[in-house]
Amino acid sequence: MKCFVCGSQQAKLIKRDHLFVESGLTSVTLKGCTFIACKQCGEEALQLRKPLVLMRAIARQLVFKPAPLTAEEVKFLRGHVGWSNQQVAEAMNVSVEQASRWATGNGTGAGMGASAEELFRILIFIECMSPAELAKAVTEIKALVSREGKQKPKRTIKAKPPVPLKIRLVAA
Ligand SMILES: [Zn+2]
Repeated sequence: MKCFVCGSQQAKLIKRDHLFVESGLTSVTLKGCTFIACKQCGEEALQLRKPLVLMRAIARQLVFKPAPLTAEEVKFLRGHVGWSNQQVAEAMNVSVEQASRWATGNGTGAGMGASAEELFRILIFIECMSPAELAKAVTEIKALVSREGKQKPKRTIKAKPPVPLKIRLVAA
């Protein structure tokens, strides 16, 4: 197969794991990546069939990361949804300088407070949803909220008052 760089016909497909620094993150490893590797010039061209799907999968994992985000991760998520620091600042009601500091970090992480990070993750998650997913979520919420109303009880029977949702959780 042909090498894109030197034109040699000696290139062949190889598979190996790859530290995906092209994503802007230094901690993402892609398992079993395909490369077009050339013996002639040493070029190894990474082949990704669905890079956008991949970036979205990474974003999803970061949104649900069980530990505080690093600055690099904040920057990745911001970029993933196509936001500038200015847009983060406006969405979160902070200064542009503050939004910029989150994406640069303070040495130990993004330095986002818990409530800011919670809001940031939620905003990113909403931005990440495809129009179809968003429509589905809206439909589900509408159905949940309007279920009682749609049953149209007889006029003589008073609609039942809302009942609190019973939630059972194991104490942590
Ligand atoms: Zn080559």
